[in-house]
This record gives sequence, structure tokens and C-alpha cells, in this order.
Amino acid sequence: MLVLKNEVVLNDKKFKILIYPEQIQEAVDKIAKQINHDYKDKKPVFIVTLKGAIIFAVDLLKKIQIDCEIETIRAKSYGSGMVSGGSVLISQMTGNIAGKDVIIVEDIVDTGLTVFQLRRELELYKPNSIRVATFLLKPSMISNPVEIDYVGIEIPPDFVVGYGLDYAELGRNLPAVYVLKE
Ligand code: 5GP
Repeated sequence: MLVLKNEVVLNDKKFKILIYPEQIQEAVDKIAKQINHDYKDKKPVFIVTLKGAIIFAVDLLKKIQIDCEIETIRAKSYGSGMVSGGSVLISQMTGNIAGKDVIIVEDIVDTGLTVFQLRRELELYKPNSIRVATFLLKPSMISNPVEIDYVGIEIPPDFVVGYGLDYAELGRNLPAVYVLKE
């Protein structure tokens, strides 16, 4: 049986639990329901941002009941630290999204810079539409004019790990979300 830890230590930092697995699944269900409804007559392409969004994407995509395609893209702004780096690296996609309805799947929106730049780059491939689904949102941190269409859970502007999110590559496998302890 899985024993959920209330606190975890990753490298030199301590984290305490913030969001339980049941709350995570409720948030995923909510987004899946909205997308199943909004795209019922469409065949969207989900573009999963690596690596942070993989766990969220796996849970979400299993609940999508319409025909869809899946792509991955790499967008990185944190490096190994805890502050948004301000630059975004996007690697090439293999698929063709021209004329298609794209849904970007993100782990977390912090300053909004990653989503802002991702949208701008993806628009060059001439998709029919682009929407964004994010597992977590730090609303007070949004400093770029980005529209987020589907939000799982809003959190305070603190550094979190787990459920795909890392601290220096550790913690992605945690089944809950943990926040940095002061
Ligand atoms: P933004 O460009 O919106 O500032 O940052 C988005 C990216 O920064 C996310 O995709 C994620 O990789 C990283 N990020 C933002 N906040 C956090 C956080 O609290 N924890 C972790 N592990 N990564 C974060």
C-alpha cells in the first residue's frame, strides 16, 4: 500500500504536503469533463510540455473520450533553481498541427512567460486554434498577457514539487504536490 508522506526532503530542501492525490484527481476530472464537452465535435491535438506535464497529461488523456492526437514539446525556463529563468527553449515537434485545434498541456503557469512564448511559436505552424490546460496556476504571478483556458488548481506563489514538478530533477514521481518549507 502506498504511504503518503507529509513531508519530503529533496537534496537540501524540505517540502510539506499541499495538495492530496484525491484533490489532484478531482482537478483532472474537472478539466477532462470540460474538454470532452468543448471539443465533442473536434479532434484536438494535445501538445504536452516535457517534462513537467507528463504525469498530469497521462492522467488527463486517459479521461479524454473524443478522438485526439498527442504531441510532445520541450519548454524549459527554470534550470535547476527555483526562480523562473525568463527564457524558454522550445524543441521542434514532429507532427503537423496546421489547421488543427491545439490544446497545450502545462504543469504550472507561473509568470506566464512559457505559455506566452509557446503560443507565439505554435501560431507559426498555423493551427486552427490554441487553448491552454494547466494543472496548477499561480494567479498572482501572471505578468504576461496570456489566456489560460483550463485550470486545475490555483495555488499561492510558492515553489512546489511533485506530480511531475521537480526540484533539480527530483520529486517528479511524488503522487501529491508539496510546497517548500520556510
Ligand atoms: P513561467 O514561464 O510561467 O514563469 O513558468 C512555467 C514553468 O516554470 C513551468 O512549466 C515549470 O517548469 C516551471 N515552474 C513554475 N513554477 C514552478 C514551481 O513552483 N515548481 C516547479 N518545480 N517548477 C515551476
